[in-house]
Amino acid sequence: MVELKTDTSIDAMYEAGQVVARALTAAGKAAGVGVSLLELDQVARDVLREAGATSPFLGYRPSFAPTPFPAVLCASVNDAIVHGIPTKYRLRDGDLLSLDFGAKLGGWVGDSAISLVVGRPRPADLRLIETAERALAAGIEAAVVGNRIGDIAHAIGSVCRGAGYGIPDGFGGHGIGRQMHEDPGVPNEGRPGRGLPLRHGMVLAIEPMLIAGGTDGYHEAPDGWTLRTNDGTRAAHAEHTVAITNAGPRILTER
Ligand code: MG
Ligand code: MG
Repeated sequence: MVELKTDTSIDAMYEAGQVVARALTAAGKAAGVGVSLLELDQVARDVLREAGATSPFLGYRPSFAPTPFPAVLCASVNDAIVHGIPTKYRLRDGDLLSLDFGAKLGGWVGDSAISLVVGRPRPADLRLIETAERALAAGIEAAVVGNRIGDIAHAIGSVCRGAGYGIPDGFGGHGIGRQMHEDPGVPNEGRPGRGLPLRHGMVLAIEPMLIAGGTDGYHEAPDGWTLRTNDGTRAAHAEHTVAITNAGPRILTER
């Protein structure tokens, strides 16, 4: 069931979204050569604590997961697409890092992700990240009253495929509110004009994931969480929590 949010609730979700934005900015700034993923998780924990917010990631255990998620931040490096568990791994020059973070404040959840390169970037990685951001922007632009879910999916998919990148099948965006994952699902590829009509008060996490090698296959790492590309090429992820309003899309996790 899709829950429509009131304008007051959307304002409250913006406050949660701003905690997410601050944490991602802080963790992204802290991400440097030699810094460990656990240290980045601590940076994000500090932001949560200062804001009086809690983590919807910590202890999260969806049906596919063998263990509760042990951190507040997902940190996915190079061929890891999403759901990377922060470890003692220390970032190396040229690593492509995706950070996905959620916060719960006043009962409402925000969810957002960024990708960046640590140290000296390879042009191919910059292009991949720039395309993920462009796909996200296209998805947000399509998130307007009168359109349908398929229009968002089509907008995202067209940018990714147009640049020659792969799209991991079966993972995508989602409704969000009091729960991190609500209806409807928001696929990263689809047919325009199809699916649920978009209405004022729908709040969606829109999140393209791109695979540099152009293939779509992925697999679970031995930790049961991290999803890695099958072709071994790098991946990028970008995400915002977006409210659909009569005045247009409102990015609740804007940085
Ligand atoms: Mg996320
Ligand atoms: Mg999400």
